[in-house]
Amino acid sequence: MIIKTEEEIKILREGGKRLAQILNKVKDKVRPGVSTKELDIYAEKLIREGGDSPAFLNYRPEGAKYPYPASLCVSVNDEVVHGIPNTDRILKEGDIVGIDCGLKHKNLFTDMAITVSVGEIDAEAKKLLKITREALEKGVSAARAGNRVGDVSHAIESFVRPYKYGIVEVLSGHGVGRSIHEDPYVPNFGKPGTGPKIVLGMVIAIEPMLNQGTKNVILQGDGYTFRTADNKKSAHFEHTVLISEAGPEILTMI
Ligand code: MG
Ligand code: MG
Repeated sequence: MIIKTEEEIKILREGGKRLAQILNKVKDKVRPGVSTKELDIYAEKLIREGGDSPAFLNYRPEGAKYPYPASLCVSVNDEVVHGIPNTDRILKEGDIVGIDCGLKHKNLFTDMAITVSVGEIDAEAKKLLKITREALEKGVSAARAGNRVGDVSHAIESFVRPYKYGIVEVLSGHGVGRSIHEDPYVPNFGKPGTGPKIVLGMVIAIEPMLNQGTKNVILQGDGYTFRTADNKKSAHFEHTVLISEAGPEILTMI
């Protein structure tokens, strides 16, 4: 378990703030007719203007056949996460689009995702976005020193269950900071009082992924994009959170 120093925490706070500002600007670009690649190019421009680096670009997760080719993951509708931006993928009215970004500021990493509506979306999609955002809030609230990772997982799962959404199990939150993915895993389901202890100075990315239908997802031929097995919509929200004396502190906040 990596405990961050005061100096590291200062840098992560600044990085998180920058990342939140960038995603907020990218969000404003989302509208019908825009390609997912345009969002990626814009995000990379904003990141580099700040003197920082995109954490996902050329990142090679274990087992991947080739490094990730973009600064953003842009996942539309039934794409759950890790959608690769493409000039041919044009957003249209009624879509929902997950935008996930990692930022490297002074050698330290923060990670954040939002899901955004494209124009007007139907009531079911609106509800999915709302519940996924609230599930993240529940997870964040449980990220306190003295709790265990399973308490975060359980807070998310127990909040989501009544809505009958599929909670994606094969992907999870994670420690973050000195690298983009660190220990511990932070699943979006689990039993309270289980898993690693949460201690002061830990930094974790909490990121529920909720599906309108089945929890099952299928990795696509590009080696990165996950889609829902039943092609129903999926939403994803993520914050990087510091475990501080005062409680959970969201770092990816403006
Ligand atoms: Mg992320
Ligand atoms: Mg993450």
